[in-house]
Amino acid sequence: MRKLMSFMKLSLVVILIPAHVGTGAEKRTKIERQTPLVYINTLFENGSPLHWEIQPDGTILISLMYDHERSSLNRASGHWHFQVRAEAGSDLTLVLQNFYNIWNGMPARPANGNTSCYASQDGQNWTSILTERIEDERLRIRIHMESDSLYVARLEPYRVSDLEQLLDTIRDHPLVKIAEIGKTVEGRPLEIVRVGHANAPHRIFIRGRAHAWEPGGNWVIQGLINNALRSDQKSRRLLDTYCLYILPMANKDRVARGGTRFNMRGMDLNRKWDKPADPDLAPENAALEAWLDRMIKRGFKPHLAIDFHNDGGGNLHIARPNVNLESYLANMERFEHLLRKHTWFTEGSTGSNFRNPGSIGGGLLERFGIDAVVYELNANWIEGLQKVPLGRDWELLGRQLHNVFYEYFHRD
Ligand SMILES: [Zn+2]
Repeated sequence: MRKLMSFMKLSLVVILIPAHVGTGAEKRTKIERQTPLVYINTLFENGSPLHWEIQPDGTILISLMYDHERSSLNRASGHWHFQVRAEAGSDLTLVLQNFYNIWNGMPARPANGNTSCYASQDGQNWTSILTERIEDERLRIRIHMESDSLYVARLEPYRVSDLEQLLDTIRDHPLVKIAEIGKTVEGRPLEIVRVGHANAPHRIFIRGRAHAWEPGGNWVIQGLINNALRSDQKSRRLLDTYCLYILPMANKDRVARGGTRFNMRGMDLNRKWDKPADPDLAPENAALEAWLDRMIKRGFKPHLAIDFHNDGGGNLHIARPNVNLESYLANMERFEHLLRKHTWFTEGSTGSNFRNPGSIGGGLLERFGIDAVVYELNANWIEGLQKVPLGRDWELLGRQLHNVFYEYFHRD
């Protein structure tokens, strides 16, 4: 009986615990509304995964989520793309955090004093907005709600659907051939877009979007393709000289899902190019390598390769693997000179001390004998145009590239 009593006492205590918490409601106060009701939507194509909360002072704190690289400490969180829903006419302050990136094993910070940011009412027409770097490596953004919806993004987005739209408009053109060379981790098709005549005397390979947060290359590629397919005499003359082979969006899965850098299996598609790619972990690179092997076997080795990226510097990254670099460096010098001559490029190339081990530039040169360069389009500022970049500025560079290529192959 005593046992039963003590059991009941125990039970009572157990039951009373939640009851006690329940009656402690006097300690909880209703959250007062100090800011207009806000909802942050990220569940759309290229929307970035994040946490958000409204701070006591009404600020909306947005915590970006890091992408992590497999088998390393590297992590990245430079992409953001979200839709703010709030009362029309309201003014909001957003604070973005989690910029403690690790790059090549070293602390790195994607947010700077001049970090660019863009806003759009409809997700199609974008304007740049100011960011302000504040304490604890955070970025403050102030927005005004013209309507009850505003998209905010790190850079003017170029989505998988934008690429599909471009490919649909050119697919039937007699100078275009689109070939699927493999699939991404999630099964999205990886295509090589050939623009021009396969039997042209020179070939250029271009890759875009190895890193998901970097849409610049896609805009360049769009300008390049559209200009090549104009039916005037000049375009015909250009395409009699060289043929373009373009892998427009290498990291499609992460573009679709709003990731920053790595593919779905945590692989960096601009690393480990010093040896063959693992087809399970990085099928995007394995497919590209297999395609390059086939091209070379058939006698169609590209003469020049460009891998487009975005960063805060805007430089050409000249590879320096352990091979004879004489003709390569001379060609890259010519390429840089022609870029300055025919496009808005002014940023120059990285110096002789620059090393970025395992990047595609060195890999294509060392393993495939292809003159290859990484072009990092400055994400924050175009010095040559004195403005923050929009998609159309990068499209302009794509159009201007044709004169660069033409002169590059006409050496006299
Ligand atoms: Zn990159």
